[in-house]
Amino acid sequence: MSQPMFERVALIGIGLIGSSISHAARRGGLAKEIVGSARTRSTVDTALKLGLISKGYDSAIEAVAGADLVILSVPVGACGPITAEIAPHLKPGAILTDVGSVKAQVVRDMAPHVPQGVHFVPGHPIAGTEQSGPEAGFAELFDGRWTILTPEKGADDAAVEKLRAFWEALGAKVEVMDPQHHDMVLAITSHLPHLIAFNIVNTAEHLERVTDKEVIKFSAGGFRDFTRIAASDPTMWRDIFLGNKEGVMEMLRRFSADLDELKAAIEADDGETLYRRFAEARAIRRGIVAAGQDTSAPDFGRGATASAEKSEGGAKK
Ligand code: NAP
Repeated sequence: MSQPMFERVALIGIGLIGSSISHAARRGGLAKEIVGSARTRSTVDTALKLGLISKGYDSAIEAVAGADLVILSVPVGACGPITAEIAPHLKPGAILTDVGSVKAQVVRDMAPHVPQGVHFVPGHPIAGTEQSGPEAGFAELFDGRWTILTPEKGADDAAVEKLRAFWEALGAKVEVMDPQHHDMVLAITSHLPHLIAFNIVNTAEHLERVTDKEVIKFSAGGFRDFTRIAASDPTMWRDIFLGNKEGVMEMLRRFSADLDELKAAIEADDGETLYRRFAEARAIRRGIVAAGQDTSAPDFGRGATASAEKSEGGAKK
């Protein structure tokens, strides 16, 4: 096997993303040693049991000692306080990164604490599921997906390139952009869809005439796909909306204007506008499939799963 890229990787936070990094790094032999800490002892114990880390610590301070790569995989609101805590204990020459879904705020919160000689290169893998915790991770999570790095001007080129190579070895494709641009792009591609999903699921829940039973029974009509997104971790998403207020508010203004146009078209029996807008949206979906960012299988390939379950005797009514 080739030489590992890092001697000691410290994972601060070992949930879906931290554990997936461990799986993919071990698959690629990228680190001689992976150690870690989390907020609770039970997560550290689970991570040890699963072999995600070889040493587990009760504090982030202990975990980062001697690490040449430190990755914060915690809710974005926790990135600043943790950086303040670990800063004096970071090894000179180490790379410090994060995986937070919001970048401008994370940079604002973390950068002031980073000591001279430590290379801070913020990052965000555009890959995830609605699951959380150390048991949710898997090695393939980043395969073929994008990771965005948002180094500050004047960041050490060698450190940025090393982190880029690390993410590529984890399976990802890497792009570099500035944090504000990242936040605008993600506001429309991820944050707004989650807000809509949280909202539509709550609206259905609040409808008095649609009983819970009916919502579930007829969910395949479209609602079910929103519920998957709305099952995402509430702490993580609270922090994302607090952290990317500007980007989300801008996209909400545009979204509301477009929604008003659709509302007016329905009201005016304007089928032509409705058809045109729906056809445009359909073309976007085809573009995503063509770019290899999703499956072209009908119903996201669920048909195949349903038949497999049936053939195993797990028929659904
Ligand atoms: P997760 O599964 O909920 O795991 C979060 C981890 O952070 C847990 O190990 C938790 O420890 C730890 N933690 C929470 N608060 C902490 C604190 N105050 N101090 C120290 N550790 C703390 O979350 P995740 O999905 O991996 O998300 C982690 C980060 O990745 C977030 O910033 C999120 O924005 C970003 N991200 C998520 C996705 C996604 O789809 N999930 C995709 C891309 C990026 P305990 O288990 O002990 O509580």
